[in-house]
Amino acid sequence: MTKTRWLFADQLGPHYLDDSDQPVLLVESKAVFRRRRIHRQKAHLVLSALRHRARDLGDRATVLQVETYDEALAAVTGPLECVHPTTKGALRFVESRGVTVLPDRGFATSREDFAAWAGGRKRLLMEDFYRWQRARFEVLMEGSEPVGGRWNFDHDNREAPPRSATLGAPEPWWPQEDEIDEEVRADLDRWERDGEVSFLGVDGPRWLPATRDEAVKAAVRFMRTRLAGFGPHEDAMLAADPWMSHSVLSPAQNLGLLHPSELVRAAEREHREGRAPLASVEGYVRQVLGWREWIWSVYWHIDDDYRHRNALAATTPLPDWWWELDADAVTANCLSSVLRDVRDRGWVHHIPRLMVLGGYALQRGIDPEELTRWFHQAFVDGYDWVMLPNVVGMSQHADGGLMATKPYASGGAYIDRMSDYCTPCAYDPKVRVGPTACPFTAGYWAFLDRDRELLAGNHRMRQPLAGLDRLRDREALVEQEQLRGTSPP
Ligand code: SF4
Repeated sequence: MTKTRWLFADQLGPHYLDDSDQPVLLVESKAVFRRRRIHRQKAHLVLSALRHRARDLGDRATVLQVETYDEALAAVTGPLECVHPTTKGALRFVESRGVTVLPDRGFATSREDFAAWAGGRKRLLMEDFYRWQRARFEVLMEGSEPVGGRWNFDHDNREAPPRSATLGAPEPWWPQEDEIDEEVRADLDRWERDGEVSFLGVDGPRWLPATRDEAVKAAVRFMRTRLAGFGPHEDAMLAADPWMSHSVLSPAQNLGLLHPSELVRAAEREHREGRAPLASVEGYVRQVLGWREWIWSVYWHIDDDYRHRNALAATTPLPDWWWELDADAVTANCLSSVLRDVRDRGWVHHIPRLMVLGGYALQRGIDPEELTRWFHQAFVDGYDWVMLPNVVGMSQHADGGLMATKPYASGGAYIDRMSDYCTPCAYDPKVRVGPTACPFTAGYWAFLDRDRELLAGNHRMRQPLAGLDRLRDREALVEQEQLRGTSPP
């Protein structure tokens, strides 16, 4: 008997199907939206993508709008199979219900490949993994050597932003909404009105690809017009230019509309054919074939307890103004701008995530488990597999150094150098104590003071801790930051 292929809402690209006649099951579970308060635009994107896929598959697809997955399974006759789900919870569910699980198709790295690479290593460092990926997939390689003689062009890719308000890069490709989006919006409005579901953030026109066709258009636009300028300013932030030269393809990738290998090959081709410099292409390949694959692989490698790791004993609850994306309550221009962008679009690029949001949470000792939930729910590309290792390990150092050799802690000087946030800010990134003391600068030293003993064994923290010991205003600073706590800075 032919098995029906159950496609999850993040498995929507053509590579998740084989036989053109095989029946397909798509399930819309309202409990998924009820269980977690997610960003309104994320709910819209996921439902729009699922319904567009159903439309494209036509009679082949059975679409079930149900409360729970069990309700859907009760309505299906005949055997089911699915491609390896992207979360541990979903994998446990399908295994427990007798659904046949096929190997994953959304990533270039299999769980077995990674297990072989990681076996016996004390630390799972991204750089080591990335080089292994480059060599085995022969990406940007000349024989056994990296093209250009270097694996890493980070040094060339850390330029401060230009003095202008925007980078001046060509616009990303934007979709047009259609009747499916209208229907999705009406459903979400009704759910909210009836008090069935509540969302984070605000609604807005759908600005991200929801179909394979749209995702390909967005990818081609990026490769042809934006990739060349991606590298130099990939770590910079501009208040009026949230995407700069970033691909903004992660939401489409995380819906399964694009495969990482096709993006990596396309980027490599742009360099080979002379349209994009090596540093930009290497920076992009590092993110897709390195960072993204590494995060995915670590997610499957770590044990269930990882979610609760809290090596820096950070137990402060995430404040309400943060949960509610209340940018207007915040005076600190960097944090206010980033929260506003998350509220309005559910997306900011990796540096505001890591250095502004993650930096503030690290300094204030926010509970990493709660912070992980927030990132998962508030970001249009947030999924458990990406946010768990990224927040617990990379951003909050709560895994005690499995993924990063030291905490990503920095003060206002970094934000001042890499953004235009500080000039109009009421605070001064150079001031540690007093009414104009920058909460990131003061927060950095207060973090070192609080976690001094926990950090003392890390040789990479020796210099910052020696700097702490030299501070003459340390006592006043610590008292000031204790009073400030997590009230909106
Ligand atoms: Fe952020 Fe401090 Fe700069 Fe203000 S001065 S924008 S709070 S880093």
